[in-house]
Amino acid sequence: MSNKRRVAILGATGAVGQRYIQLLQGHPWFEISVLAASERSAGKKFKDAATWLMDTDMPKEIGEMQVANIDVKSAEQTDDFDLVFTSLPGDLAGPVENEFGAHYPVFSKASAHRMDNDVPLIIPEINPDHIELVKVQQKKRNWKGFITTDPNCSTIGMTLTLKPLMQFGIQQVMVTTMQALSGAGYPGVPSLDIIDNVIPYISGEEEKMESEALKILGTFNGVSIDYADFQLSASCNRVNVKDGHLEAVFIKLDKEPSLEETETAFTTFKGEPQKLKLPSAPTQPIIVRHEKNRPQPRYDRDAEQGQSVVVGRLRKDPIMTLKYMCLSHNTVRGAAGGGILSAELYVTKGLA
Ligand code: NAP
Repeated sequence: MSNKRRVAILGATGAVGQRYIQLLQGHPWFEISVLAASERSAGKKFKDAATWLMDTDMPKEIGEMQVANIDVKSAEQTDDFDLVFTSLPGDLAGPVENEFGAHYPVFSKASAHRMDNDVPLIIPEINPDHIELVKVQQKKRNWKGFITTDPNCSTIGMTLTLKPLMQFGIQQVMVTTMQALSGAGYPGVPSLDIIDNVIPYISGEEEKMESEALKILGTFNGVSIDYADFQLSASCNRVNVKDGHLEAVFIKLDKEPSLEETETAFTTFKGEPQKLKLPSAPTQPIIVRHEKNRPQPRYDRDAEQGQSVVVGRLRKDPIMTLKYMCLSHNTVRGAAGGGILSAELYVTKGLA
């Protein structure tokens, strides 16, 4: 019998849920035992419920699995899984994750609980120590399980690049995003809205970027998180690209590092996942490219299986201190790949 942890994916038929399915194939520690979605899909075979969006074939045995209903009342009774990955719409995720979190480790991609005082918001390379916050949560809520969250897909790429620059003292960050269509889920943005177009608004996205980064880069004081202290302003746009969020970052620092020092800070940056050699960890979390016209979504989003952030066009800024472009794969590092990496960290630390 396999001794892998059995995983339930809530929201399995969606853009992120399918990425979880794809990335968990052959995973050394996790195996999928439950696929759940809405009443529309429940009771159907997965292959009849989902429009498959991945560029690898739907695994045969996944196609034959019956989709379960996300029934909060059954959360307590079932013994079909050991931990839960959720990729549900934000409003639904709030109550559902509370039900499941009382009993199981819940790894959430939704925004509902990200900013809760007792819920960690994790990028494993940046703040692995914040996972200890789940012990505070378990005690406070008298839970056997817990909820831990991953940041918004546009927050992850930018924040990974900010961490190595903190040594130079971050004062202000301005960021403009060009975000891919898969970030809006499936079927997502109507084609007639986005063909030949850029949409300069994504509901709630700017607020998430402006708050989440400060929590992730903050300090765990044993009870809660003291937020990082700098200013951040975001402007978010939807563009006609399938996968990969490209972001223009402008940053004002206390010190004036040379471009070489800055590049070295990026390329030498490594975290706990690299030290622990977690199965889904990229060997180099931040890759720097020197071509004048990179990074580009089509060519750079799959760097290190989509788990690395690619930085390019690093230069001095006449108003701020530095500016650069960064790119990350929104449904891999920005969603399922980040979620799996978090789960691997919790497992290694004996918390899941
Ligand atoms: P999606 O493609 O729209 O998928 C939504 C999933 O939730 C589907 O499995 C859907 O099942 C299920 N669902 C919807 N309404 C439900 C209901 N009333 N009861 C039970 N299940 C329901 O969305 P997504 O892009 O995968 O995003 C999922 C979550 O991840 C969202 O909170 C999103 O903000 C977050 N996220 C997305 C990305 C990204 O790049 N896409 C990145 C980071 C975070 P049915 O198929 O049965 O309707």
